[in-house]
Amino acid sequence: MCGIIAYVGDRDVQPVLLDGLSRLEYRGYDSAGIAVHSGNGIRIQKRAGRIAELAKAVVKSPLHSTSGISHTRWATHGEPTDTNAHPHLDQSGRIALVHNGVVENYQTIKQALTEKGHVFHSATDTEVLAHLVGEHYDKLSSLQGANRLVAAIKAALSEIDGTYGIAVIHQDLPNLVVGARRGSPLVLGIGEKEQFLSSDAAALSPYTQKVIYLKDFDIVTLQPGKFDIQTIGEREVSYEIKELDFKPEAAEKGKFAHYMLKEIFEQPTAIKNAMRGRLDKETGTAHLGGLNLTNEQLRDIRRIIVLGCGTALYSGMVGEQMIETTAHLPVETDFSSEFRYRNTPLENDTLFFVVSQSGETADTLGALREAQRKGHRVLGICNNVGSTIARESDGGVYMHAGPEIGVAATKSFVSQTTIFALLSLKLGRMRYLSAANGHEIIHALEQLPAQVEAILAQSDYIKKIAEKYAASQSMLFFGRQGNYPIALEGALKMKEITYIHAEGYPSSELKHGVIALIDKKTPSVVIAPHDSLYDKNMNSIQEIKARCGPVICLTTNGNKEIDSNADDVIKIPQTLELLQPILNVVPLQLLAYHTAVALGRDIDKPRNLAKSVTVE
Ligand code: GLU
Repeated sequence: MCGIIAYVGDRDVQPVLLDGLSRLEYRGYDSAGIAVHSGNGIRIQKRAGRIAELAKAVVKSPLHSTSGISHTRWATHGEPTDTNAHPHLDQSGRIALVHNGVVENYQTIKQALTEKGHVFHSATDTEVLAHLVGEHYDKLSSLQGANRLVAAIKAALSEIDGTYGIAVIHQDLPNLVVGARRGSPLVLGIGEKEQFLSSDAAALSPYTQKVIYLKDFDIVTLQPGKFDIQTIGEREVSYEIKELDFKPEAAEKGKFAHYMLKEIFEQPTAIKNAMRGRLDKETGTAHLGGLNLTNEQLRDIRRIIVLGCGTALYSGMVGEQMIETTAHLPVETDFSSEFRYRNTPLENDTLFFVVSQSGETADTLGALREAQRKGHRVLGICNNVGSTIARESDGGVYMHAGPEIGVAATKSFVSQTTIFALLSLKLGRMRYLSAANGHEIIHALEQLPAQVEAILAQSDYIKKIAEKYAASQSMLFFGRQGNYPIALEGALKMKEITYIHAEGYPSSELKHGVIALIDKKTPSVVIAPHDSLYDKNMNSIQEIKARCGPVICLTTNGNKEIDSNADDVIKIPQTLELLQPILNVVPLQLLAYHTAVALGRDIDKPRNLAKSVTVE
């Protein structure tokens, strides 16, 4: 959430910042702003609304400079208005600051500073932090230049509770940007005579491939041709310069109308990339070297807990079914946000998995740290190489799905569920599965990309169904076993991008309450592939139809019986029952997407949401 981009060098800063902000806009898009050093002070432009609004403002009144900071906001404190947009100034008006995160004790600090005569203009927590830096700067008059600003920032940050990724400039210190992080991501981009700071490495790829992922409590100064990293507190300074491994084109929309659609269509490749080099056809198992566990250690695990938020958690729920089926190992899933504050009884032989596309989800990072504090090994399933979760976990599996820009996650879900299938194969082969069963799963996994292609070819057909039901006020999604999390994910996609109320349930729960919602205006999407519970699902369809509820049935090819029992039918290829959820999610993504198009929604930037939830 929230994008920061800052620059020092020899280029005109305004286009660099605007371009960076537009690459980061998926992280927050309620307002945006820029502050630059100018010959006679700091100049700021900020606007509520999309970056296009800010771009219009700077066209009218350009900000020429070679250094500056910028921000695209996802409001936590104060409405998205021009005044609340970042950057914020300190009391003297000489320091400008942008911030990602939340200052939890801002009210106490605001009160104390108000008593000293500070006047605040916005409702944000961030402005308080800017004033606090200014307050310390004034007191540190024995220090000079960059040292004085760095010392003031360190002093201010040590007084606040909460999380931050910040970038700061001072009017008397041209060509200097200071950044710091705790809990919110920041990446330093190293150029020849220029340096960049960004909350996401993807925004830096057009300018440099050399980056340093900053750690919590790092504080960095950027000047043309040089940077300096220090720490706030006792920790020794350590960093590694990494090469980015993606090309800027990977983050372009190409021929697709929306990032979401592009990413839905990238799913055959995402599945291939998740499996690449990991299938062992000889012994019928999977190789997942990054787990950093010997076979003996893996065999001794008695329980697995999977933590995540939203779509990532639902992928874990699919994983739960897969691992329990193949390896007979007890698996539990929990919301990261709940686990971290709960007294869960834990045994020594419990292994944790945390799932996060961005690798920066604040709740999941908090849960990871809590599990590690309790002495457990935590493995990550992430997409962003170099992300905080990837670095702090004890091992894990990378998704290699390429950048996911659409706020509604799609390809990351199929990638995560494919990885859980590989895990279930590996753990199964160590406990319960025969080589023949292992080969059968591998064979089925290899068919998945082509089967997803076949589903994507039905996009226009699904569009027609979407248009038929787009005026609904509410929709219900039903599925059982591994398809229950798919029902949850289908409902989540529908909510996120169409704003239609939607809920996911096991179809077996129908009679226990939700049936009260069935009427002729409330469509039910029932996931009923030909599997061990097919007949049960058919009963549920009858119960819905008996109450005049429209039914959209998602089933597998060859099912003729359904044609006369459901209002609309989507038929897709059949795979093993274990893997069927990976395929079943795809038509539901398309259904949500086409419904949102029919309703004229802003699909890649849905209301109130933002990608990469870096605040708690
Ligand atoms: N808490 C800050 C605000 O509401 C920063 C939010 C963000 O990360 O965009 O302005």
